[in-house]
Amino acid sequence: MRLLIVEDEKRLALSLAKGLTAEGYAVDVVHDGLEGLHRATETPYDLIVLDIMLPGMNGYRVCATLRAAGHDVPILMLTAKDGEYDEAEGLDTGADDYLTKPFSYVVLVARVRALLRRHGQGKGSSPVHVVGGLTIDLGARRVVRGEGEDEIALTAKEFAVLEQLVLRRGEVVSKAEILEHVWDFAYEGDPNIVEVYVSALRRKLGARLIRTVRGAGYRLEAPR
Ligand code: CA
Repeated sequence: MRLLIVEDEKRLALSLAKGLTAEGYAVDVVHDGLEGLHRATETPYDLIVLDIMLPGMNGYRVCATLRAAGHDVPILMLTAKDGEYDEAEGLDTGADDYLTKPFSYVVLVARVRALLRRHGQGKGSSPVHVVGGLTIDLGARRVVRGEGEDEIALTAKEFAVLEQLVLRRGEVVSKAEILEHVWDFAYEGDPNIVEVYVSALRRKLGARLIRTVRGAGYRLEAPR
């Protein structure tokens, strides 16, 4: 899952990015509304955390512009102001949820997860997937063997790669698509990094779960 944070308070933005990265999300940060709009238009983000008071263009306008252009990416608005008026205005412009500063980091992560889950469900997927004898819970970010308690430990990044394949199980997902959703724009390394993570997943979850489709990408086999 790849997130965009648009927040001009640099320390806040960086600490949010650091925390969300540790949760396994790929996170891009910009400090300006226009730059945020530009990024959001160019990259298929899974969620945007959007401050309201921003240089360049304010958050309300960024949100309204994205919605007018047909983008349905979930948007979580941050506001320093406290009042029903702002909340109503934020939701009016098409935001999905809002948080009033100061907020606790734990609450932010919970809201981000809930929004991603809600959005995923809107597309007809559930957070719990049973595949190849594994139960993969995208909400709790755990993988267990069968329905038991035998949890398989994955790193946050391994889980994020697995998630992309699970969300499109039975379909071919290209390396570029995985990179786009799991790594942020600061990543300039080798795109073959995806292979390294797929190898690790095969080692931990079984060799037959993820099929390589030559020249196209990977496919998570669909049997239950
Ligand atoms: Ca601000």
